[in-house]
Amino acid sequence: MEENRDSFPVEKIRKDFPILQQMVHGRPLVYFDNGATTQKPECVIQRIDRLYREQNSSIHRSVSHLSEKMTLEYEQARNTVARFINARSSREVVFTSGATASINLVASCFGREFIREGDEILITHMEHHSNIVPWQMVRDQAGARIRVAPVTDAGDLDLEGFQDLLSDRTRIVALTHVSNALGTVNPVKDLIGMAHARNIPVMIDGAQGIQHGKVDVQDLDADFYLFSGHKVFGPTGIGVLYGKEVWLDKLPPWQGGGDMIERVTFEKTTFNELPFKFEAGTTHYVGAIGLAEALDYLTRTGLDEIHAYENELLRYGTGVLEAIPNLRIYGRAETKIPIFSFLLEGIHPYDAGMVIDKYGVAVRTGTHCTMPLMDRFGITGTIRASLCFYNTREEIDQLASGLAMVNQMFA
Ligand code: PMP
Repeated sequence: MEENRDSFPVEKIRKDFPILQQMVHGRPLVYFDNGATTQKPECVIQRIDRLYREQNSSIHRSVSHLSEKMTLEYEQARNTVARFINARSSREVVFTSGATASINLVASCFGREFIREGDEILITHMEHHSNIVPWQMVRDQAGARIRVAPVTDAGDLDLEGFQDLLSDRTRIVALTHVSNALGTVNPVKDLIGMAHARNIPVMIDGAQGIQHGKVDVQDLDADFYLFSGHKVFGPTGIGVLYGKEVWLDKLPPWQGGGDMIERVTFEKTTFNELPFKFEAGTTHYVGAIGLAEALDYLTRTGLDEIHAYENELLRYGTGVLEAIPNLRIYGRAETKIPIFSFLLEGIHPYDAGMVIDKYGVAVRTGTHCTMPLMDRFGITGTIRASLCFYNTREEIDQLASGLAMVNQMFA
């Protein structure tokens, strides 16, 4: 294990992230809120800076030098995303403003076209609000029904429960790759297989999945897979929706506006080809190029190496937290990313979070936008430390010191 630790150049990697170099309350910043958003490497920051300094011009609508250059780089960014997730073609990659927008796009367009009264939408009990509320809107509009696959006490998806809920009425399955609140990695390939056996398409919310290991949408056979740029070391305000071409072709456009059209008269509009049909208005082209830079950074760092190192952090962190007697971890799935959701008996998570912050450790407290999941466990929230590949064991120790202080103050 030591070998593994040494082989991952975490100290060198940390130097790529300027924000990590600072002190907070007199201690080195420990950033354990990567589930909420991730920090940006220097190459992403510099790329965005250069684009605005030297090259800014709106894409797709001009023959000017700058505009053509920007358009080319925007489309190259799309190719980078397509390669990163192994899409068949960049026509299957739609840029959106983030995971939430991508889910709303799928829910709205798929719902309008394919969901009718009495139909069912299958989600799970561990979904983020972003993958619940858009489907409730579809449900209410269509008179459909949402079914919810159960989660076990350990925080795994109950596979039999999931299977039992697939029915002739299920029109789509929408589920998360990785739980942002528990860290559970769902066996999405198997789940997609189960749904496909009944010809049901599957949308995977990859907001917490894309940054922790290799995602191959063809291998998964996902019909839709989506994520946010800001959680994968890229800029905010940009996201991706991958959709199989056969599905994207069948869906009506989402928002109307410039760029998504082929021809407009007052009587009738015809729509642009894929993927532009889903990109109305001036897109966040700088964000898309910044995102591609972040994905290239991850590829250079090595997704398999990241995965192995994060497993080490998971194992180490679990051991450290388990040694704290009044601490209970929520989310004990076999297959997890290094997200630690926990409570200290008798201590409000918010109080604990405030004290830990004084130790320079940034964690998140609350429901993590998964209120139904919190209800499932009979709690009002947790303290969540969400780690990624630039975190270290020493930082976990710093968290443990902070928790010891919390216990001293409140126990
Ligand atoms: N799904 C999951 C699993 C998430 O963790 C998040 C963000 N916390 C979202 C969706 C929404 O992402 P965004 O706010 O970037 O749109």
